[in-house]
Amino acid sequence: MSSKNTRKCPKCGSTNVDVVKTWNLVSPLPDKAGRITVTIMGVLKCRNCGYTWKSTVSKIKVGGGVEIEGKQEIAEERPPKEIILDLDEILREE
Ligand SMILES: [Zn+2]
Repeated sequence: MSSKNTRKCPKCGSTNVDVVKTWNLVSPLPDKAGRITVTIMGVLKCRNCGYTWKSTVSKIKVGGGVEIEGKQEIAEERPPKEIILDLDEILREE
């Protein structure tokens, strides 16, 4: 993996780059397989010219092997809207 992980300064092309800070971005929607992509973003700094920029440090897919668990969690988070719609219909019928 380390050979693919070469980070390069977009300004001067130097590979002498530091990761200053990282944070996670969690995709709000799962993909077709029910997996959620967690993107690890980072602030990178070139030690050669001092330029800083944001870049994707790594991507992790979560939930691929535990598809059922992922779907259950999603189902539990949806109901609120449906309940409101149901109440509305009942009131109109009466
Ligand atoms: Zn640079």
